[in-house]
Amino acid sequence: MTQSSDPHLDGISSVESLLVAAGRDRRPGSPLNRPPVLASNFILGTDRAYARDDGTPTWEALEDIVGRLEAGRATAFSSGMAGVAAVFDQLRAGSQIVLPEDCYQGVAGLAESGRQKGLWSVRRLAVDDTEAWIRACADADLLWLESPSNPLLVVADLRAICSAARKPSALLAVDNTFATALNQRPLDLGADISFQSATKYIGGHSDLLAGVVTVRRDDVHAALRHSRELHGATPGALESFLAVRGARTMALRLERAQASAMQLAQRLSAHPEVTCTRYPGLRDHPTHAVARAQLKGYGAIISFDVRRGATAADAVCSGVRLIQHATSLGAVESTIERRAKIPGQGHLPPSLLRLSVGIEHVEDLWADLDAALRRA
Ligand SMILES: *Cc1c(COP(=O)(O)O)cnc(C)c1O
Repeated sequence: MTQSSDPHLDGISSVESLLVAAGRDRRPGSPLNRPPVLASNFILGTDRAYARDDGTPTWEALEDIVGRLEAGRATAFSSGMAGVAAVFDQLRAGSQIVLPEDCYQGVAGLAESGRQKGLWSVRRLAVDDTEAWIRACADADLLWLESPSNPLLVVADLRAICSAARKPSALLAVDNTFATALNQRPLDLGADISFQSATKYIGGHSDLLAGVVTVRRDDVHAALRHSRELHGATPGALESFLAVRGARTMALRLERAQASAMQLAQRLSAHPEVTCTRYPGLRDHPTHAVARAQLKGYGAIISFDVRRGATAADAVCSGVRLIQHATSLGAVESTIERRAKIPGQGHLPPSLLRLSVGIEHVEDLWADLDAALRRA
């Protein structure tokens, strides 16, 4: 199934232009941008009666943009996790789920909560153990990949894994939040589902929660819509409007942020107070070769270990001034956080800091980081 046709977009295939041009009402006299439509119900007589069942023009603007980025159809949800839950909702009782060892803790938590209720079994595989993933394709019902992974930034060989034979009823999903459709298009590589937390790069301003799930298969699209209708995990009108507003500048923001991230990663890896810098763009990164072949850009998240341990890492977080000591990522403002502090993340290196590089000037970011590292 493809998007509804919009002749204004004929011939445009670059993600950069689609971000700006899609999701608009072309009728003369319409606002250039879809306003937030605050409506639960509509005058009967068309195929739009009730928002939870039939959507609203504001949600659809967001879905139109995100769907076109991957030449699929997107369904928007109230948060990223609501979108993930709709994917898990497709599973029959007794299904087998395969998850990466390193992945977003909310996804691992959702899988674990269902496992404890006896809904399904869960296996975890190393992100870079391509052979194990290929073998798992033969019997898993849901393969959930995340690449680059959070927070260790390991890159999975998506091309090899997505092209392995899997059960006809199986779903292979890729959490594309870190890479975004600008750096990689999982559906092109053979995934059934591409997921993004729109809270991150799409929204881009730390002011909303939303999620989007993009697919090409009609049956999966209909099933996701049905799940949203039944569970009521619908996006807000204002959040959808803001996510569209964010999407318009996403390419510029990500370009700037990942150019700065590359410079910061290089400087961090030479810093006397840092022992290990993980950034897929660095030549000595363990999965750099796959990253180079698969990603258009290496993203704007870096994680690194502070030489003098967890206390010093905490001191870096409280010592930065321009960089915000805050969780989450993908926004205009750079954020830093010690991940092992998060409940359930105790397996991570204790002094690991995850830095989401924003759009501030790279020299200001470096001065801030370097000073905080030296003071720590
Ligand atoms: C934030 C995030 C999610 C969950 O999205 P929410 O919008 O917070 O519900 C899922 N996966 C990754 C990689 C994320 O960073």
